[in-house]
Amino acid sequence: MKLWSQYFVPTLKESPADAEIASHKLLVRAGLVRKLGGGLYTYLPLGLRVMQKLTQICREEIERGGGIEVWMPHVHPAEVWEAGPRWAAAREIMFRVDHAGAGKGRSKEPEYVLGPTHEEVITPLVKTEITSYRDLPKNFFQIATKFRNEIRPRFGLMRAREFVMMDAYSFDASDEGAIKSYHAMKAAYEAFFRRIGVTAIAVEADTGVMGGSFSHEFMVPAEIGDDDVIYNEESGYAANREKATSGLVPAGLADAAPAGATEEFATPGVVTIAALEAAPYAVPADRQFKTLVYVGDGKPFVVILRGCDELEEAKLGALGFTLFRPATAEEIEPVLGTKPGSLGAVKGTIRNPSALAGVFADHAIRLIGNGTTGANKDGFHLRNVNVARDLAVTKFGDFRRVRPGEPDPKSGQPLKVRRGIEVGHIFKLGTKYSEKYGAAYTDDQKQSHLMVMGCYGIGISRTLQAVIEQSHDADGIVWPWAVAPFQVLVCVLDPQLPEAMDLARKLAATAEAAGADVLVDDRAERPGVKFKDADLIGIPLRLTIGGKGLKEGIVELKWRTKKDVEKVPVAEAAARLGAAVSAAK
Ligand code: ATP
Ligand code: MG
Repeated sequence: MKLWSQYFVPTLKESPADAEIASHKLLVRAGLVRKLGGGLYTYLPLGLRVMQKLTQICREEIERGGGIEVWMPHVHPAEVWEAGPRWAAAREIMFRVDHAGAGKGRSKEPEYVLGPTHEEVITPLVKTEITSYRDLPKNFFQIATKFRNEIRPRFGLMRAREFVMMDAYSFDASDEGAIKSYHAMKAAYEAFFRRIGVTAIAVEADTGVMGGSFSHEFMVPAEIGDDDVIYNEESGYAANREKATSGLVPAGLADAAPAGATEEFATPGVVTIAALEAAPYAVPADRQFKTLVYVGDGKPFVVILRGCDELEEAKLGALGFTLFRPATAEEIEPVLGTKPGSLGAVKGTIRNPSALAGVFADHAIRLIGNGTTGANKDGFHLRNVNVARDLAVTKFGDFRRVRPGEPDPKSGQPLKVRRGIEVGHIFKLGTKYSEKYGAAYTDDQKQSHLMVMGCYGIGISRTLQAVIEQSHDADGIVWPWAVAPFQVLVCVLDPQLPEAMDLARKLAATAEAAGADVLVDDRAERPGVKFKDADLIGIPLRLTIGGKGLKEGIVELKWRTKKDVEKVPVAEAAARLGAAVSAAK
């Protein structure tokens, strides 16, 4: 039991100027955190208590899913990262540790970085410690601080520079084993989010810079989320924007027969899809081929889409380039023969086809069959361009951005879109890291194999805020029971009366014995202030003791989620409170 007057719950009437979203405002107003600098926060007692509860529930569920808890350093010698597969990409976001000796000509002095995640630490450890199939599988996790120099920290704990993450790393002897570990973690995540009272949906995700074969993100639906989720609740299909596909192109679609010979026509000044749609050409965008040029690992490549479609750039990741970016006009001209505006990929019109790393076409261009495209000649286009006959396609793939209303790939029902907050992520990593660090084991035939890895993360501090974003009203936070900083608030309106405080102590003890954490508001404040603060900090169950009520022989019980107040005779209060706590647990 804590007495508010001796504890520290600095509530505020006003929200800070930099808080744009409800959960960020409430975090500060309810006295959970205070800002030190951009993306850097102190957890005050209430905030810390929620973090500790989230951490404990997470620990229990990850352990149930096979995890073994460890604790790794947060300062990493830069060379462990240099030896890994993503130093170039990851260093952008890493804080470097400046220390005596760094950059002072003492070249032996190692450089250090602050850990943004720990594949680079755990994989070499496992390589050294585990060598036999008998010791696999293993899944190590920690719940600890991460450091990322986010360019734009925002929304309080949502995107911070220092934050708390549960990160786990599984090591298996086989691909099937790795898939089993992956599913065990997925189940552990689901149990965790269920227990903390948060709706988080698992959506198929892009594997991005991590590579690997498959991944899911756990999303809390919220307007202010950074990510788009494409879904259909009936079929259960859910994917993030980067990964989402649709059933737009029917399976088994036959190639269209050529509509006639390819024909060049003059299009002076026409350099956009829209201009070709307009009179006098009047070629609808869904009959045009859009030709884009990118550079992947130093070599240009072409992407063809329908004129009406947008490229989903992340999907180019499937092509296997480590780094890719749009090509400049200067890079395009010597290869295709013209500047953007009249580009095309019709065989024979590309000036230097051998300079290309490939021509990659979105499946949906097959819906065009015969269409119009640039002639690789300034001011000219080609019509009657047949996909199968005329286009020099290296490989078809899914590169377009899905639009709401398109058929869901599972059921054909219309897809919907909504915003979500990514609170967790699971990856099947494969052997990318084990290969790089030589994490191998010997099987029962003394044969050596690479371990198959998975990696997993839950943003514990981001989840704390996502809980608030999902569970608040106009008056304040509405904590789910399991993560509330206190579950019961005993509100004493006349703390100067000894009989009121005696009863408060007695009932607090009853609630504690039943399994609740109890805060007693014994401050010498007006009832209005106390009730406002009670709503603001969002404790699930409030028990009010006042001098007037005591004269009548009653106390009041109120749930944060309900409007009505229940008057309970003092003689029954302990039993009622105990029963309410037991039922809520
Ligand atoms: P995001 O796309 O939001 O930057 P991420 O893909 O970089 O996330 P991971 O590296 O997969 O995230 O980290 C695992 C989890 O850690 C995320 O799902 C998220 O909940 C949390 N997380 C990541 N970056 C931050 C941050 N800057 N502040 C708070 N939590 C974060
Ligand atoms: Mg990130």
